[in-house]
Amino acid sequence: MHHRYDVLVVGAGGAGLMAALYAAKGDVSVACISKLYPTRSHTGAAQGGIGAALGNVQEDHWEWHMFDTVKGGDYLTDQDAAEVFAKDIIDAVYELEHMGLPFSRTPEGKIAQRKFGGHTRDFGKAAVERSCYAKDRTGHMILQTLYQQNVKAGTTFFNEFHVTDLLIEDGRCQGLVAYELSTGELHTFHAKAVILAAGGYGRVFKITSNALTLTGDLMSIYYRKGLPLEDMEFYQFHPTGLAKLGILVTEGIRGEGGILRNDSGERFMERYAPTIKDLAPRDIVSRSIITEIREGRGVGRDKDAVNIDLTHLPREVIEGKLAEITDLARTYLGMDPVKDLVPIQPTAHYAMGGIPTNLDGLCLSDGSGGTVEGLYAAGEQACVSLHGANRLGTNSLGDLVVFGRRAGIAAAKYARQVEYPDMPETGDAQRESVDLFERLRNGSGKENAAAIRKELQESMMNNVGIFRNGKDMAAQVDIIKELKARYQGVTVSDPSRRYNSELIEAMELGFMLDCAEAMTASALNRTESRGAHDREDFTERNDAEWLKHTMAYKNLNKADDVIIGYKPVALKGFTRAFEPKPRVY
Ligand SMILES: Cc1cc2nc3c(=O)[nH]c(=O)nc-3n(C[C@H](O)[C@H](O)[C@H](O)COP(=O)(O)OP(=O)(O)OC[C@H]3O[C@@H](n4cnc5c(N)ncnc54)[C@H](O)[C@@H]3O)c2cc1C
Repeated sequence: MHHRYDVLVVGAGGAGLMAALYAAKGDVSVACISKLYPTRSHTGAAQGGIGAALGNVQEDHWEWHMFDTVKGGDYLTDQDAAEVFAKDIIDAVYELEHMGLPFSRTPEGKIAQRKFGGHTRDFGKAAVERSCYAKDRTGHMILQTLYQQNVKAGTTFFNEFHVTDLLIEDGRCQGLVAYELSTGELHTFHAKAVILAAGGYGRVFKITSNALTLTGDLMSIYYRKGLPLEDMEFYQFHPTGLAKLGILVTEGIRGEGGILRNDSGERFMERYAPTIKDLAPRDIVSRSIITEIREGRGVGRDKDAVNIDLTHLPREVIEGKLAEITDLARTYLGMDPVKDLVPIQPTAHYAMGGIPTNLDGLCLSDGSGGTVEGLYAAGEQACVSLHGANRLGTNSLGDLVVFGRRAGIAAAKYARQVEYPDMPETGDAQRESVDLFERLRNGSGKENAAAIRKELQESMMNNVGIFRNGKDMAAQVDIIKELKARYQGVTVSDPSRRYNSELIEAMELGFMLDCAEAMTASALNRTESRGAHDREDFTERNDAEWLKHTMAYKNLNKADDVIIGYKPVALKGFTRAFEPKPRVY
């Protein structure tokens, strides 16, 4: 089947829906293609909130928010992006409110705001209440609100359609190919502009807070074309995921007084961060937990977790303010936080890197200003480099709405100005996708996708996780090569056409292997520690050599080879020298 729309959006999370809405307001025809039903997108899992310097509870300014974002990103953040973001997010939050998003309120009826790690007043002097929230369901409310607005604006939805390939010829995007889950049919979509908003790829790790579907599909498709992925070495771990499952336990649990304890019941954060203890930043808490586990003080059968203790808190607090996570612990672990210690371990959470874009979401084809005409990206899968080497909590939801909106506006404007690009014949357009499915369905190989996926996830966790070193990462490069070779021999056992989830998962594994390859090569190459990239063999930050973005390209002429290039960081006044004083945690 063949379809034609002025603007196509891939992904119906917060970024995709915001982009689609703004494209639809731009007087062009818009379709949104999503492998999930839109309101099941991972954005719906975000609990903490969306940061904006509204100043509803305490004095606040966008400049303070910009500074926190740059500092949180360990100075790898592009400061022009941080400036646009910190200014635009204020207006974007009010816009969400006017669309009907049911924010929690102050007694006077303004949007309520609460504290969140790393958000400060007066350039780092003290914590500030900046996170706007709708109870612990902010992401859910954003998705519902934006979906309703899209229905109203006339966006056409293709739900449960998997994008399998992008059509790019001579630096110009022409459209894409998608697989319809319910029929097993391939569809070709012809477009003037395409916006990619397909989310993260946390599933490359064994323990992750990310939904099953976050497999980096479009990052991989982009990379397979010889186009770069930016800053893939920077991946954030959240310190508290439910043990074995990775399901996120909100930071609020420590905010409300939860205490981390090792096997002997010791409050070990007193040793790592004597002043703020359990409320230290995410990376410090994650590293402290892993150190406890490595030194044999973990809990559980495999001694690979630590406990979070809420038992000293009143039942009303646990069941009221922490209702969601109490429910999850009761359901999935059979434990009751009111009386039991709950085992947690760090969980892979957020990709700072991804498809490089400029401030309007236009995709970059190199580190020196080249672009892909008609192709835009936004959200977690994109890298406008707002988050640099580490993201602050609540800044991702903000990123989705600010840069989703900018990409939607830019794509619609472009689509109004140009004719439809030439498009290959259907057979040619679909060739790569047909070949892939043919091999996975009818190949003679005996490899099993689930086994390869498990090895990938375990080895990535061990070798490119929270602590990194050259030896382990070099070993991981070889492991990925071997897994990729075995992947060529994967054949699915279920030949059916309709709702063939085995086939889809096998395809997603191919995407994950690419993301893992780019990530490992980028991480091995960066011989310093910065933000979330923590190397045991290069413990210092090295601005003289490494204040630059990594651009990882697949070498199209040589299998398994990654070419590393660079892109300068956009600076705008904030430097390390500007920081008021070194922080004592
Ligand atoms: C548990 C959890 C809690 C979080 N809490 C917060 C928080 O409180 N505050 C905050 O700022 N951030 C938070 N984050 C981060 C933030 O929620 C995510 O980064 C953000 O929601 C990603 O949005 P997105 O629109 O980029 O992608 P998603 O919401 O992940 O949506 C991806 C979309 O792409 C589609 N898709 C993917 N691949 C394909 C394909 N091949 N074909 C077609 N469609 C495809 C999917 O169907 C989906 O619609 C949290 C993340 C998690 C996992």
